[in-house]
Amino acid sequence: MDAQGLEPLREGDDARSWREIREDFPVLKQHVHDKPLVYLDSAASSQMPQQVLDALIDYHSNYHSNVHRGVHTLSQRATNAYERARLQAARYINARTEREVIFVRGATEGINLVMQTWGRENIADGDRILISAMEHHANIVPWQMLAERTGAKIDVIPMSDKGELDMSAYRELLGKDVKLVCVAHVSNALGTINPVAEIISLAHEHGAKVMVDGCQAAPHLPIDVQDLDADFYTFSSHKMFGPTGIGIVYGKFSLLEQMPPFQGGGDMIDTVSWEGTTYEDVPQRFEAGTPSIAAAVGMGAAIDYIAGIGRERIVAREHELLALATEKILTLDKIRVFGQAEHKAAVLSFDFEDIHPNDIGMILDTCGVAVRTGQHCAEPVMTRLGIHATARASFALYNNEDDIEAFIDGLLFVRDLFA
Ligand code: PMP
Repeated sequence: MDAQGLEPLREGDDARSWREIREDFPVLKQHVHDKPLVYLDSAASSQMPQQVLDALIDYHSNYHSNVHRGVHTLSQRATNAYERARLQAARYINARTEREVIFVRGATEGINLVMQTWGRENIADGDRILISAMEHHANIVPWQMLAERTGAKIDVIPMSDKGELDMSAYRELLGKDVKLVCVAHVSNALGTINPVAEIISLAHEHGAKVMVDGCQAAPHLPIDVQDLDADFYTFSSHKMFGPTGIGIVYGKFSLLEQMPPFQGGGDMIDTVSWEGTTYEDVPQRFEAGTPSIAAAVGMGAAIDYIAGIGRERIVAREHELLALATEKILTLDKIRVFGQAEHKAAVLSFDFEDIHPNDIGMILDTCGVAVRTGQHCAEPVMTRLGIHATARASFALYNNEDDIEAFIDGLLFVRDLFA
């Protein structure tokens, strides 16, 4: 038990084999087009283990109720579970306190929250915002909207053909007037793991704050916002074995304290009168209205689940899977792999020189293999690489060597069809 009277995160307590762990995911036991499902689209949305489904069923069956306002038992249970999820999320990223964790619908809302609150207060005409060339639209468009409104300018941190950020260009861009740097911890389109600690420390030397999009890091890597010294960090639960409709945005307490509310309504106020309204403290100030309570409970269970398996162990396993898949895919005729950064997480973006990625995806589906195709909400990455789309296989802790074999067999089938 720790100070809050709850069990701390038990990192690495679950010593079961990968085969046993895979059994936790009921959805993976099905057939698609009469073939065993091979799910390689976890970067879009990952699957939920039985432990998370059980937590959701328990909430809905036994203590569904509104949070924060009730004196009755069910409301108190719901509030405790909801706040426990906040605490687990804080521990998951090593925040100083759970008050630095704001519940949002997902990373997109997290970034928009920072834009609407911190951004509107701190970015003005003539300021510069640096955005990495490999951002998801979620970490581009809100800042374009802010720039349009304020007259701020956006500069792009360029990347190499391999998909690595150009750090010397970054240093140069960090000249005067940069107020904010926006960067993904891991690129969803290319899998690159960006050197966020270095990016943040350089930004701070120049007095800029950093918004880290941690969507693709959260299910794969250990995250320590104190060690990174991140100002803002966001992720979505549905990419880390939890339900949709919930995620968090972390902010340093000293910043959150200075920020105005995001949306107005119930739960975020202190007192309301016709003369004026005062607001709740951080983090409630940023959480107007009834939140996604069940989803938060599910996310808490997902965090327990990942931590139980242990993130160092997950990193090593996924590294093995990615290395194997990359080695095998490179043996195929006319294959092109996009994103060859030295440090990569479990994403493999590719195409065949002569086959449209959508065709690859649709034919793989007939083999039971689920991959994503398109721009991956990262159109500037596609433009930078001179392509329109890629096919993307993304791996998670439940994938195995048989999945990779089925994936490669599926690609051989695609190749044969187009021969
Ligand atoms: N950033 C990255 C890197 C992502 O991969 C995604 C989801 N594709 C998002 C942001 C947006 O997440 P959400 O749709 O859950 O808000």
